[in-house]
Amino acid sequence: MAKISINIKSGTLEKEGLVVGIDLGTTNSLVAMINPDTGKPEILGKTDELMVPSVVHITHDGIPVVGSAARQALISHPESTIFSVKRLLGRSYKDVEAHAPYYTYRILDEADEKLVRIEVNGKYFTPIELSSEILAELKRRAEAITGKSVSRAVITVPAYFNDSQRQATRDAGKMAGLEVLRIVNEPTVASLAYGLGLNSSEAKTIVVYDLGGGTFDVSVLRIEDGVFEVLSTQGDTYLGGDDFDREIVRHWIKSLPENIHSDAFKSLRLLAEEAKKQVCGGGVFEELFNHVDGQYKLALDFNIFESLTTHLLDKTIQCLQMALSDAQLSYDEVDEVVMVGGSTRMPFVKQRLVDLFGHIKVNDTLNPDEVVALGAAVEADVLAGNRTDILLLDVTPLSLGIETLGGLMDVLIPRNTRIPCKYVKNYTTSVDGQVKMSIAVYQGERELTAENRKLGELLLTGIPAMPAGMPKIEVAFLLNADGILTVEAKEMRSGVQQHIEIKPQYGLSDTDVERMLLDSLSNAKDDVARRMLVEARTEAEQMIYTITRFLGKNAALLSDGEIKETLELCNSLKTKLVNSDKDTILQGVDALNEFTRPFAERLMNKAVSSALQGSHIDKV
Ligand code: ADP
Ligand code: MG
Repeated sequence: MAKISINIKSGTLEKEGLVVGIDLGTTNSLVAMINPDTGKPEILGKTDELMVPSVVHITHDGIPVVGSAARQALISHPESTIFSVKRLLGRSYKDVEAHAPYYTYRILDEADEKLVRIEVNGKYFTPIELSSEILAELKRRAEAITGKSVSRAVITVPAYFNDSQRQATRDAGKMAGLEVLRIVNEPTVASLAYGLGLNSSEAKTIVVYDLGGGTFDVSVLRIEDGVFEVLSTQGDTYLGGDDFDREIVRHWIKSLPENIHSDAFKSLRLLAEEAKKQVCGGGVFEELFNHVDGQYKLALDFNIFESLTTHLLDKTIQCLQMALSDAQLSYDEVDEVVMVGGSTRMPFVKQRLVDLFGHIKVNDTLNPDEVVALGAAVEADVLAGNRTDILLLDVTPLSLGIETLGGLMDVLIPRNTRIPCKYVKNYTTSVDGQVKMSIAVYQGERELTAENRKLGELLLTGIPAMPAGMPKIEVAFLLNADGILTVEAKEMRSGVQQHIEIKPQYGLSDTDVERMLLDSLSNAKDDVARRMLVEARTEAEQMIYTITRFLGKNAALLSDGEIKETLELCNSLKTKLVNSDKDTILQGVDALNEFTRPFAERLMNKAVSSALQGSHIDKV
């Protein structure tokens, strides 16, 4: 169960829960924090299970089970065991349709524009809820190990994640009871784990090669003055260690009788992964495989494995070449390479990179499946204010703008702008008497909005009718540190304004998130209710304190009746503090506030008039 700390003296929430870094991976997730004794990041977990498989199994009773136990159910209960949920996070059915056969569980094909849902035994789950289960498990782990409450986190995402996916990740964190300090890019924190970017005087170009379980990402970063700029990213969201396993399965199946193919496939996959790890570690693999109609010998050695999978490695190198050409760089302009992801333990990966890059430094001394979480812990520490020597800044990877006449993209925030930032631009109407204006927001580098990604739309209404070109409409883009955008539009002559926080068109509203938060997690529900109650109590206590002090100092400003009434309101609020719910407490706060507001005004007037008197006396 999650914990909250309350400072007994002040009655306030203790904000100082531990801060952690979380790698919410497609295959495995990890949590790390800075060890206060060594100052170095460490993965939190038992030595034999530092990683939590990113798998959620829904039991018959509809209860989610996370991690290794859930992973066991992949074979026995494929339809109720959700893997790779990260690929579905912040996505609509339209986005994932092409790969639907890949999933063994049911993804609902409801509406193109809405976030997907998953159905298990007649119950519905969103990828946000399922991801929050994984995050909650990591939080519990960290709390069990440290014995302290863990309340704040930095969560990592791939550099190519769009707004919708980032927002969904943030929502999942919130739902798990975490205050998400920042959503950060995986390649950025992987570099941080190696200390790159910590020395603000050095400028470097870095390639981060991340081959995980199901995805491949390569990013080119430029680090200068402590700023991480993503020059380009490329990759394949359906290429990873799983594909290497699949090649082994295909190879084995060739030597097995025809009729065994389909149902043996699944158990062969786990064996294949074992075989892969074994041959990559320098061994050979041999095992007897029992099947209804006989026993078969499965074998693998490194050379066979390498030749079976060369085409997959080649694919990653093609992506790498594209990433470099997008960034307009050649191999010899790169200063360092960082290796990330469990699959970079395959020896030919490093070999190929060394061959391509020559003698530059290939960073592979940290465990490749841990670097992202380790780096996230460093960033979390910085953001929590524990290190003042570093300033971590991020940039937005894609340009943001609005559609203007003729479907043109008009950029307000160019790509690679440091975030957080704010940009303002003026527009006007194109038709006489135009009273409303639609402002469509896009993300991307193309000239025509049709070729960019639409993030949302805002309608400015109530513009006073004027000749075309007369209204002055100011559009402001505010991009926060997570890369989440708020757009404001204002007609300057009349002051009419509208603003929206851009979540993708098919995103969740805050109320949806709130509702899911209350519905799905009974623990979180208790915590949220408790927190709101504590906050209401704190507010009430502060109010009573302030007013009691005011009465003590300024009784002369009030009538006897007013003093009596104030004291009564204070006392009634005090009794409410003991047993009442938050709404009743807040009503009491409001009543007291309402009644005493004029007093503050009187005090101000008194101060002003005595100041005036003072000046008058001076002149005499
Ligand atoms: P993700 O970032 O997708 O969550 P990870 O970075 O944890 O994934 O990588 C998981 C992948 O790494 C799996 O495909 C796993 O088989 C592979 N892997 C882990 N250890 C080894 C190893 N020793 N040799 C080869 N592959 C490995
Ligand atoms: Mg990863």
